[in-house]
Amino acid sequence: MDANLQALMANMSFTGAEKAALLDVAHFDDISMAADVKYGLVGKVLSPRLINDTTFICVFSNIMAEEKVEIMDLKPGVFLFKVPSEMHLRNVVKRGPWFVDGESIAITMFRPSLSLDEYNFDKMCWWIRVYGLPLDKMTMVTARKIGECFGALDYVDGRQIGGNLGDYFRLKVELTVTNPLLRVVMLPNSNDKPRACPIQYEKLNKFCFYCGVLGHEVELCSKEMPQGVALPYGPWLRVPIETRMPQQRVCRGIIAVRDIEVLTHDRDTPTLPALADAPSFSTIAPHIPCKR
Ligand SMILES: [Zn+2]
Repeated sequence: MDANLQALMANMSFTGAEKAALLDVAHFDDISMAADVKYGLVGKVLSPRLINDTTFICVFSNIMAEEKVEIMDLKPGVFLFKVPSEMHLRNVVKRGPWFVDGESIAITMFRPSLSLDEYNFDKMCWWIRVYGLPLDKMTMVTARKIGECFGALDYVDGRQIGGNLGDYFRLKVELTVTNPLLRVVMLPNSNDKPRACPIQYEKLNKFCFYCGVLGHEVELCSKEMPQGVALPYGPWLRVPIETRMPQQRVCRGIIAVRDIEVLTHDRDTPTLPALADAPSFSTIAPHIPCKR
């Protein structure tokens, strides 16, 4: 449904005949495309630029080949990912964020009881690096506080490689894609002004150097930009490619903090929420060292 129609519907008053046109869907035959999707995800391209469906399916199928994903286009820029098992579904979520043709893809659980307009694609998980932290502040407490600044914390990288836990603190957070990216977090000092700790984002491609929001570049920004003003965001928010971590998958040494919410859907039991069984931080790592 396009935005104009959605706005019209919000204020429309209905006739008696329309109110009486109540569909008793329990008597319909089950022919929906959702009927055979037990493990599914729905992804949306964040950019207003439309990606050709065939390109999307080709590129995504290639990069996710190991995950045995079946991809269907639901409407321009919105795709259904059907995977064979809960393990595959978890892998797809854990390995995010995903990109196709330089565009970020927001992914959420498939919920057959929702219309596409009711899906929320506002959240995305992202690996970040926080610099300037004192070495004894690279702790789970700090990680959780940083996660709260974004929304949620998913993983903490406990590996001491490439500067991690020395030069920077590497975390995977859930951020809201409609909010400007945070450039710093503040660490209180006892007798001075707070310390601003800069943040860089891994695999950060397209975002706006004026408003700091993902999914568009400054040329397409909807906000009015005064002439001659220095842009508050820039390419320095990206982790340089040459310093990316060699292992991008969630692996040994990376600590899971938050369970992934997994939904499965059977024909007999349409919506069965199942709690994730991924090990929590407390079960796999009692603490990470804060002194070295
Ligand atoms: Zn903008």
